[in-house]
Amino acid sequence: MNLIFDKSIAGRRGVVPQKSDVPTTVNIRPEFLRQLDANLPQVSELDVVRHFTALSRRNFGVDTNFYPLGSCTMKYNPKVAERIAAYPGFAHLHPLMPQLRMGGLLTQGDLEVIYDMDKLLCEITGMAGFTMQPMAGAHGELTGIMIMAAYHRDKGNKKTTVLIPDNAHGTNPASAAIAGYKVVTVPSNDRGVMDIKALKQMVNSETAGIMLTCPNTVGIFEPDIKEICDIIHAVDGLAYYDGANLNAIIGKARPGDFGFDIVHLNLHKTFATPHGGGGPGAGPVGVVKKLCDFLPVSLVVKRNDGTFALEYDRPKSIGYIAPFYGNFAIILRAYVYIVMLGKEGLKRVAENAVLNANYIKHKLKDYYDLPFAGVCKHECVFSATRQNATGIHALDIAKGLIDRGYHPPTIYFPSIVKEALMIEPTETESKETMDLFIDAMIDIAKQAQAEPEKLKAAPITTPVGRLDETAAAKNVDIAAI
Ligand SMILES: *Cc1c(COP(=O)(O)O)cnc(C)c1O
Repeated sequence: MNLIFDKSIAGRRGVVPQKSDVPTTVNIRPEFLRQLDANLPQVSELDVVRHFTALSRRNFGVDTNFYPLGSCTMKYNPKVAERIAAYPGFAHLHPLMPQLRMGGLLTQGDLEVIYDMDKLLCEITGMAGFTMQPMAGAHGELTGIMIMAAYHRDKGNKKTTVLIPDNAHGTNPASAAIAGYKVVTVPSNDRGVMDIKALKQMVNSETAGIMLTCPNTVGIFEPDIKEICDIIHAVDGLAYYDGANLNAIIGKARPGDFGFDIVHLNLHKTFATPHGGGGPGAGPVGVVKKLCDFLPVSLVVKRNDGTFALEYDRPKSIGYIAPFYGNFAIILRAYVYIVMLGKEGLKRVAENAVLNANYIKHKLKDYYDLPFAGVCKHECVFSATRQNATGIHALDIAKGLIDRGYHPPTIYFPSIVKEALMIEPTETESKETMDLFIDAMIDIAKQAQAEPEKLKAAPITTPVGRLDETAAAKNVDIAAI
């Protein structure tokens, strides 16, 4: 690799490549060698530092401000995990490095991280085996449903439908449909949880399984969860737990103990790893014992001599769903987070996530409509219907928050709530931060009453003001992208 790099700069600064320099394996023809210096900008280190510092300050992120984006769990990612992921032994890994070269020094430690993580996640969820490969939550869902399909194929079951409640995350029906299933929607009741009577009527011999988001998208734990699993198992269906938001129950309860067969986790939500711009994430999938044979290849196994290896000989596997080992650097960060917090620390994650959401819910309930009363889990959902009286909508409230220094919450989702404002403070925020946010929300509620036209003009603190979103969506200049 170095030789190729040397050649590409060989034409610069008047260095003429000598015949003996040209590597025998890479034969670059002279017409492809650079004759003139590349027109690269020449800037000082100071200019470079200013440029990148300016760019970084344009970013709005958890490291700069409160980011209560419901369902997305924008919590703080401890920097120690970044430090460890940057260790040369990890950062310089290449997926094609031999597993055992130099007595295994090169990749054995990395394989051990994956192996250990598998065991930790099994303990946390009550599952028997995991795949680390899926690269996002939705990718994990697809993997899980493919495993569900493989199970039914293997047993000769004729199954065509997957049941999904109307309070599930939006990716659930998409994943089931991509895997080839017909999606049947189970309604929720006026408490925001699944209507069990409706479920019983909908389950039949065609039911391949159910996908349950829990806590559901209104932030409520499904109270009939055990019964739901029993109903599905009675027709040899499988129960899938969308555990993207496991921070609501981690250390307190395990999907495996409720009766679930498949679960995916979002490491980039529950275990404090970066979300990036739509990635890279990681959505490991765990399964019960009877489904382990169907997990994707490869899996990390521990040999009798204590060394680790990748296992490919898995005839019933659904095959590859991602290249190599998945997003290893993300798995590593989550591993650091779990080991750092330990059992008691992970319990406190759940306690604080739930406490914080209920604190905000309680403090704002006199100012915004609450479609579902009672205790919520890691997020709370309000509705802006009361503010509609003066022409204010959820969108205006979101824009008003931008002027007050906050990232808006998720709005208009979940779709079962009109004018939804979905707030997820996460466990990493202090009471002081939440109090300031609560004050901002109360201030907006008052402005919605007294000066609605001012709120309609928000944001006024950003360079371009309120965007014409319809025009932005319609007049996309492809050439400019
Ligand atoms: C975020 C989320 C997903 C999707 O995860 P991605 O990593 O964005 O694909 C699925 N289910 C739930 C409940 C989520 O919150």
